[in-house]
Parts: sequence; C-alpha cells; structure tokens
Amino acid sequence: MSTVTDVQTLRNYVGGEFRQAAVTSTLEDRDPATGELAAYVPLSGEADVDQAVRAARDAFPSWRGTPPQQRARAMMALREALDEHREELGGLVTADMGKTLDDALGEVGRGIESVEAAIGIPHLMKGENLEGVARGLDVEMVRQPVGVVAAITPFNFPAMIPLWFLPFAVACGNTFILKPSERDPRPSVRIFEVIAEREIFPPGVVNLVHGARDAVTAILDHDDIDAISFVGQASTARMVATRSAQTGKRVQALGGAKNSLVVMPDADLDKSVPAILQSSFGAAGQRCLAGSVLVAVGDEARQNEVRDALKAAAEALTTGAGADPATDVCPMVGPDSRERAERMVGEAEAAGAGLVLDGRIGGGDAGAMLAPTIVETDDHDSDMAREEIFGPVLAFVRAGDMDAALEFVNGSRYGNSGSIFTQSGDAVRQYRYGVEAGMLGVNIGVPAPVAWFPFSGWKDSLDGDLHANGSDAVEFYTRKKVVTSRW
Ligand code: NAD
Repeated sequence: MSTVTDVQTLRNYVGGEFRQAAVTSTLEDRDPATGELAAYVPLSGEADVDQAVRAARDAFPSWRGTPPQQRARAMMALREALDEHREELGGLVTADMGKTLDDALGEVGRGIESVEAAIGIPHLMKGENLEGVARGLDVEMVRQPVGVVAAITPFNFPAMIPLWFLPFAVACGNTFILKPSERDPRPSVRIFEVIAEREIFPPGVVNLVHGARDAVTAILDHDDIDAISFVGQASTARMVATRSAQTGKRVQALGGAKNSLVVMPDADLDKSVPAILQSSFGAAGQRCLAGSVLVAVGDEARQNEVRDALKAAAEALTTGAGADPATDVCPMVGPDSRERAERMVGEAEAAGAGLVLDGRIGGGDAGAMLAPTIVETDDHDSDMAREEIFGPVLAFVRAGDMDAALEFVNGSRYGNSGSIFTQSGDAVRQYRYGVEAGMLGVNIGVPAPVAWFPFSGWKDSLDGDLHANGSDAVEFYTRKKVVTSRW
C-alpha cells in the first residue's frame, strides 16, 4: 500500500510547464481493483482555467500560422512517442480505470489511430474553389481553425477519448485545453508528460486542467474559448450543450447510451454468444458501445434457447482485477458505481423482472466488483429496459419478429449504437435502414470507433451535429471562409 506521503497531487500543464493548481481542494483517485489511493486530483477552478485559456490564446496566432505540414509532423512525432509508451499507457489505464490489460491496450491503440488520422491534415483541410461563377469572378472556400478549443472527457476511456480530440483540434491549427475525468486522469497526465519530454508542441498549444464541476463550469463560461468537445452522461451532455450555446460556443456533446443487441432466429449462437458477452460484460459494461439490452427475436423456444446459452456462457466468466490475465470481467470504476448498478437490479427485481443470472457479490467485500448479471423484463418502459446502468448488467427482452424488435430498439431515447446477429443479408438491410443509431455492428458486439470515420450516436446520445473523428472532426475544428474575387 502507498503511504499517504507517497501519494502525489497531480499538477495542471499550462503554457508548456506542469504547475500546481491554485486551489487546495482535491479528490482521491483510487485503483478500482484494490481500492489503493493512487493520486490526489486538484479540483481546479476559474483561476486555473483562466491561466490555461490565456496560455492557449497566446500560443494561437503562431500555431495557426505554422504550415499544416509542420503541424502534421508534430502529429507524426506524437504518434511515435505514444507508440513507444503503448505498454506503459495501457498499464496506467488498467490501474486507474480498472479494465483488463488487453482492453486497455486496445483503447491506447485506437487513440493512437486518431493521431495517425490527423497526420493527413494537409489533405483534410483543403478547401474548394470554382472558377468563373460569373464573368471574371472566382469563388474559393478556405478552412481556418476556430481558435481555443476545450475537451471535457469521461472516465471510461481515459486514454482514447482525450485522443479523439487533441490530435484533430491541434492539427487543424487550434490550441487546446483538456479537462480529463477526475476519476482516472493519470493516463492523460502521462500523455502530457510525454508531450513535454519530447517538446512536441510549442508552449501553450496543448494544456491540461484537472478538476470536476467547477473546472467545467469555468470552461463553459469562459469568453475566450471558442469550441467545446464533450463526452459523458446524457444529462451532463445536455447541460454542456445548453451552456455552451448560451455563451456562443460551438459544441459537440456526446452523451449516454442504452445499446440493443438484436439476435435473429437464424443467428449462429456459437459465434454470437462470445461477441455478446464481450459487448455486455467486457470493461464491466462501462463502454459507451456496450450492449445493454438483448432482444431475442423468434418464437418462445428460440428465445429461451438464446437466454439459456447466454446464461451458461456468462456464468463461466471470471470476475477479478484487470491486471490479472485470467479476468474476463473487471471491477467497475468505483464502489459507488457498483452500488448504483446493484440498486437498479434490486428495483427491477422488486418490480417483477426475472433474475436470469445474479452477479451481486454483496456487502463490503464486493468493492467495485459486480459479476455478470442478466435480468429478463417484459416491461419495455422500465428503467431496466430503457435507462443506462453502465455496469455488467444485461437486460433480456423478447420480440416476435424484426418489426417488433425495431419498435423496441427505436423506442429508446438513446441511439448510440446497435448490433444485429444474423446470417440473413435481407435482415441486415432492414435493420440498417430502420434502426435509429449512429454506430451499427453486424455480427459484431462492439462497433468500435475507427479514426478515419465519424464516431457518435444519435438522439439523446448526441447534442450537436458533428461527430468525433474522421471528416467530422475537421468540420468541427475549422471555420469555412468563402472568398469571391474579381481581378
Ligand atoms: P460524466 O458525465 O459523469 O462525466 C463526464 C465529464 O463531465 C467529466 O469530465 C466530469 O468531470 C464532467 N462532469 C460530470 N458531471 C458534471 C456536472 N454536473 N457539471 C459539470 N461537469 C460535470 O460521465 P462519466 O460517468 O465520466 O462517463 C460515463 C458516461 O459517458 C456514460 O453515460 C457513457 O455512456 C458516456 N460515454 C459516451 C460516449 C459516446 O461516444 N457517446 C463515449 C464514452 C462514454
């Protein structure tokens, strides 16, 4: 165990140096598997945010004037630096957030891919032109950075999600402030240390401010921030979008999810069940693309067959520390999250839902651990069927056919992702046409982000228009200017 004196208070990174926050209040950052105290996180406020904004604003004119191919070279250097620290970053993600090492390395890899995608910025930022729109008159459109941009990120991908935003924002010529999750900010700290060690960017181009609500409020209200990228719960996303709009900022706010997995009568269960378990119980159900409602399509006998196959396979999973190679299901991010998930299971049970598999370990011994839990409900409007639990809890519902399945799926206020398991191309076409969600998987449980494509959900899973990554990131982080010329 660390002694209290070993435990560091994290520092902000502002204007090219690590600095103590002006505030003295802190939060504890603990290892979800052991409960061990790892760091104190300063709860930065207005003064800390203001310092970062000034540093970013001062750095903006020169960074904006840096040729795009030089900014792309900075991305290449960042890519190499992160690649060399892949294992270390993966280990930190496991220690701080709790997920298994394989999963952690996967997220670091996907974060690095966003850097790789941003290396293409000289191509991606090119404008358009049209010669001779009238006699002697030409029109061109150029893209320019929006200015100082901030990203506010959640706990569940503490390396990947900051890297959805930093590379594209900075490659487009903006200067950048990251406010990582206060629950697991250590991977972000390490990324910024690597940036500082290699002197990848001039001072002030990228900045890191720790904190929670006060830091976020100060960011949203600051007059000198031009755009906000946010990822987190739907209620926080709505608040961030509303407040950003009130202060005239461009905003993309990616929110929560309740993703459905539709299992058609012809699905190959030997292949589908492992993908479903990985989707629902991998990372302890704390992925924004986690499958959290299974929709078994077909007659009752087939629905029972799907339920029983899932139960048998889920029972065989091992719940434990993310660092243990034998672990399938890691701890949740903290005991408070586990208690909330268990409370929702208890409420569903009290309301008449059936416990197919009860993973509650119970009492003080559980820490942040909850084993796979499957709850069958026929109340399609219940919280179990409709609200995000963000834990290793899978709701099981039944649908007679594709139409009934789509009606259930589209009855959700969320639309982050959805998956279908089938051998029928026709079923996939119907599903793809009709389903209201931004990310779809066909015989894939987790339709994970691919950096060269836009990533986001629909409906309450996104406040704003533009998705993260891909061409949408360039669209979000640039302003278009149209010039009409006569010579
Ligand atoms: P969260 O909303 O609690 O926190 C996200 C960020 O907002 C953090 O940086 C936090 O400090 C800040 N924040 C939280 N409450 C705030 C408040 N009241 N005022 C100001 N700032 C506040 O989210 P979380 O629990 O860290 O992350 C899990 C959630 O994120 C889930 O709902 C998940 O579905 C969602 N998520 C969505 C996507 C997506 O792509 N749509 C991706 C990952 C996670």
